[in-house]
Amino acid sequence: MSNTLFDETVAILERLIAFPTVSSDGNLALITYAAKVLSDLGARLTISNDISGQKANLFASIGPDVPGGIVLSGHTDVVPVDPSEWTSDPFELREADGLYYGRGTCDMKGFIAAVLAILPDYAKLDLARPVHIALTYDEEVGCLGARQLADELRQGDVKPSVCIIGEPTMMRVIEGHKGCYEYTTCFHGTDGHGSEPDKGVNAIHYAAKFMNRLLVLGEELKKAPHAAGNRFSPPWTTVQVGRIEGGSARNVIARRCEVEWEMRPVRPEDGDWVKAELEQFCREELLPGMQAVFEEADITTEIIGEVEGLQVADRNEARDIVTALTGDRLCDVVAFGTEAGLFQSLGMSVVVCGPGSISQAHQPDEFISGEQLQACLNMLEGLKSYLVKAA
Ligand SMILES: [Zn+2]
Repeated sequence: MSNTLFDETVAILERLIAFPTVSSDGNLALITYAAKVLSDLGARLTISNDISGQKANLFASIGPDVPGGIVLSGHTDVVPVDPSEWTSDPFELREADGLYYGRGTCDMKGFIAAVLAILPDYAKLDLARPVHIALTYDEEVGCLGARQLADELRQGDVKPSVCIIGEPTMMRVIEGHKGCYEYTTCFHGTDGHGSEPDKGVNAIHYAAKFMNRLLVLGEELKKAPHAAGNRFSPPWTTVQVGRIEGGSARNVIARRCEVEWEMRPVRPEDGDWVKAELEQFCREELLPGMQAVFEEADITTEIIGEVEGLQVADRNEARDIVTALTGDRLCDVVAFGTEAGLFQSLGMSVVVCGPGSISQAHQPDEFISGEQLQACLNMLEGLKSYLVKAA
């Protein structure tokens, strides 16, 4: 067994990488391993399965059973791999020139390994506040695990006050990101010959009106007063149609059309506004015309994911704590989504700060540098003074 904290972190990372926790395949073996590590330290554990029983969240607490304390949060799932694009086995940690390769090294098992490595040190301290470990499933497919955990925390007795999400930021302190809401809206019409368009309900035509309305809303959001002066790039809430599919031939009325669209709200009210406007538009402007011709015509919208944004707050204890530890006083905002907004909605102060670069995430030959792992360990070492200090 290695004796330095860094070596221990690498040894744990090797274990974590060997669990092929691709979102679709489940994470139970990793959760079982982490639960053993945590229960050996005397942590109070809650494991919650998803509906399928193939995936689980782990929430563990060390230290006094009192309100407050800090959550160290990471997702256990990784994105799929195409082994032919990798130099070596993606699920076997490989070191070369101070870089550690493997699927999830950067996003975000490096952070989890550092947390698990330092926990024995935390457990030996006379902690004045608890430290909570949140390991979630299915972040990469819509923060599903974190959503379940947030619901449980909302109803439960454990009330942490501060949260660090260890997504890869090169240890920069990130205090805000946009939300990411994704939808598929399906238009159900009825077919007929192209020469008699009024006898059918052309799903593509109604989808076009819908998309036009969405784009008009997008233009209004661009001009919204609150879009001026925030630090996002671009600073307004954006909308986008990414894919459409429908119809069978040029001279056939299209029976069905699917529109895959998204929005990236700078504040939740924008998302609610777009949804309400579109709902009203469909109900008042589109459906009556569709159903006048064909009673069963319909418009349905499936929510693919609604990942809340992380709102920049004037007061943010998490930001104060982490900037003091990392020396990164210039907090930033980023374009990628995390579970941070979910935790913020529980009343916690939240930042995103973790080792590795987001440009490595989801790539073949994903890696994390030893330097970044060490920088993360330094931050976690520094947290000790917060944890032993009376609240
Ligand atoms: Zn991630």
